[in-house]
Amino acid sequence: MDLLPCPADPDETTEAYLLGRLPENESAAFEDHFLSCPQCSEHLQFTKSFIDAMRNAAKRTLQSLAVSAGR
Ligand SMILES: [Zn+2]
Repeated sequence: MDLLPCPADPDETTEAYLLGRLPENESAAFEDHFLSCPQCSEHLQFTKSFIDAMRNAAKRTLQSLAVSAGR
């Protein structure tokens, strides 16, 4: 199988993929790509951990707001 070229804008494509904003065909194509591209899979891991950290931070902020509102 031929390896597709890296996306023109890896940051945007990776983020859109992780947030489920890519159209299904692009999402599938990107999936095929990063599974065989070490560079993109590394970038994906990095972006994923960044997004997870952002989500956790947002969750903690909401929880602490809820806690202080309950006092
Ligand atoms: Zn790539």
